[in-house]
Amino acid sequence: MTKSLLTLNAGSSSLKFALFADETLAPHGRGEIEPLGAQARLVFRPAQGRAIARALRAQEGGDHHAALKTALTTIAEATPDLDVAAVGHRIVHGGLVFSKPALIDDEVYAALAALEPLAPLHQPHNLAGVRAAQALFPAAPQIACFDTAFHRGHDFAADAYGLPRAMYDEGLRRYGFHGLSYEYVSGRLSEIAPEIARGRVVIAHLGNGASMCGLLDGRSVASTMGFSTLDGLMMGTRPGQIDPGALLYLMSAKGYDAASLTDLLYHRSGLAGLSGISNDWRKIEAATTPQAQDAAAYFVRRIRYELGGLAAELGGLDALVFTAGIGEHSASLRAKVAEGMEWLGIILDEAANGANSGLISAPSSRARVFIIPTDEEARIAKLTREVVQGLTSIRP
Ligand code: AMP
Repeated sequence: MTKSLLTLNAGSSSLKFALFADETLAPHGRGEIEPLGAQARLVFRPAQGRAIARALRAQEGGDHHAALKTALTTIAEATPDLDVAAVGHRIVHGGLVFSKPALIDDEVYAALAALEPLAPLHQPHNLAGVRAAQALFPAAPQIACFDTAFHRGHDFAADAYGLPRAMYDEGLRRYGFHGLSYEYVSGRLSEIAPEIARGRVVIAHLGNGASMCGLLDGRSVASTMGFSTLDGLMMGTRPGQIDPGALLYLMSAKGYDAASLTDLLYHRSGLAGLSGISNDWRKIEAATTPQAQDAAAYFVRRIRYELGGLAAELGGLDALVFTAGIGEHSASLRAKVAEGMEWLGIILDEAANGANSGLISAPSSRARVFIIPTDEEARIAKLTREVVQGLTSIRP
């Protein structure tokens, strides 16, 4: 019987899952069902054997519960003696309370459900994944791993808004997200370049969701994301930083309400809205329309602007790390971000950058520039095992 850890990352329109050996954390397979609903498709790549890819019927991929059942059936077929020792969940919001992963009991579940208004488009789906996994593996501990936990050590000034203090005290503050990715990438950096990882590091997580994090000695000191997953960089369908006055204008002069603003800000903005083409960076890069080029230029500008701000926060820069879909794969994006950044000590090695190498800065570059592929699933598995083994506190 192979004891395994299952990781679940239940997003608004997808379910990502992976299986790791309980003892060694060796990956046994990973997969994804996307988009949930009538058009769902399953992809599963076991560590050994052939990948599976197929369209799903509505009862197989229509919602989180159905998708999870399908995912587990698929895994079980590929791993006949499967024994799930624990399930690790990506939970977007841990609020003020959770600064470590937590065993999900009734009390913790209720605390997580109470945070739904803070992340309405993510948290309910994360919790649907928890319920579905509880039903399917009633004996396995369910562990919550938070995207916000990594940022909980920020100073007041890095987390505050200039609103009445009582609002900060009630939790209206910058939480920062993508923490599981930053934990994984900074862990890898400390294996690859331990001296540098102890210094001033900016990690740019540039995927469909995008943010940047400033780290000192491996700890997060600032994030471009704030109270919600809307702030900071422009993203695939989210605008990033915006003047709240623009939103007041849309409400008072254009008839927007909370629902239509939510739709605008989460689904119709960003690269998709600005380019009029797609949220997919590959399509933006390939497009020749002025709108697509404008959208790309604004995406780059926001990254450069935040890089400068984070470097100021850190008192300089020892390393810049690119990760996630765009950061790992788009040489032209990285080149544009680095252009003219000699003042910050950044000089790229053109060939290394073009080849998506691990180290892409030139020998003459004062700051090192790396590409480190992120692996949130591996991080969730590691945290899950630590909690189960009692190595970390199981309660906030
Ligand atoms: P993620 O959310 O990390 O999966 O990243 C998704 C984003 O990465 C999308 O905008 C993709 O267009 C982009 N991406 C994925 N592969 C590539 C690639 N080979 N070149 C450029 N962009 C890519």
